[in-house]
Amino acid sequence: MINFIFSEEYINHDTGNHPESIKRIQVVNDLIKEKYSNHNLIEPTIADKKLISLVHDIDYVNYIFDSIPASGFNYFDPDTIASPNSLKSYLLAVGGSVDAVKKIIEDNNNNVYFCAHRPPGHHAEKNKAMGFGVFNNVAISAEYAYRSGKFKKILIVDFDVHHGNGTQHIFENHKNIFYVSSHQYPFYPGTGSENERGTGNIINCPLTAGCDSKTFRSLFENKIINKINNNFDLIYFSAGFDAHKLDPLASINLENEDFYWVTKIVLEKFANNVPIISVLEGGYDMKGLFHGLNSHLKALIEYSNE
Ligand SMILES: [Zn+2]
Repeated sequence: MINFIFSEEYINHDTGNHPESIKRIQVVNDLIKEKYSNHNLIEPTIADKKLISLVHDIDYVNYIFDSIPASGFNYFDPDTIASPNSLKSYLLAVGGSVDAVKKIIEDNNNNVYFCAHRPPGHHAEKNKAMGFGVFNNVAISAEYAYRSGKFKKILIVDFDVHHGNGTQHIFENHKNIFYVSSHQYPFYPGTGSENERGTGNIINCPLTAGCDSKTFRSLFENKIINKINNNFDLIYFSAGFDAHKLDPLASINLENEDFYWVTKIVLEKFANNVPIISVLEGGYDMKGLFHGLNSHLKALIEYSNE
């Protein structure tokens, strides 16, 4: 059983003619309704400024709240757009990511959560909106989880095709929150070389443009799976599906089944009966998103049934 944290409200974050469009969440919604309606569907709650400022500077948080346009669009950077209803989506995406932690603590169990939100968050820096995202949903949630004192070692696995510069920077001085990422490199946002190691808590697995399924699996296994020996008591996925071969924004050629494989191998190696929170990041081809996400969810369901 998966707990889906999801809101219809995300269709109101209008970005116009943009790859991070309303259509994406409609596809995710269709997938959940078509195949997962027997699972638990939970409405996210709205995050407040205090929660967001666990990782973001309060001046930056205030700036975002004050920059939502009354009509039309406002650009935080050339890629990152707000429209009149965007703030509610930003706050639900943060709130929902933290709700998963709260529920895990309250219920004292090892449930699996999938947060179907938009916009993505892994490019968002402490004081800067970037790459379609304004607040770093996964980083805020992981910081909240760590500060709760219930989780001593946390792993974030980011298989989005872009490097999660924001998440890496937020945690690069941390000893107990680990961030590992496979991503096309060199590529947007420019970070993510193997030399960026933080306190030993960062592992980057760069993929060359054109990388196929076989090469991806071998690199991911050698550079990430075989490089960590820790036990973790909470695992996040920054689940982006833009490394799919159909995706228009990047040049990595993963198949649908690779998203099952990467989820499964992480869970088998690092998840010994611990809670899992997967948070949607990118994925800009609608078929790639639908089938890639379906593969990822299949592995999460198998784990939740063990
Ligand atoms: Zn991406």
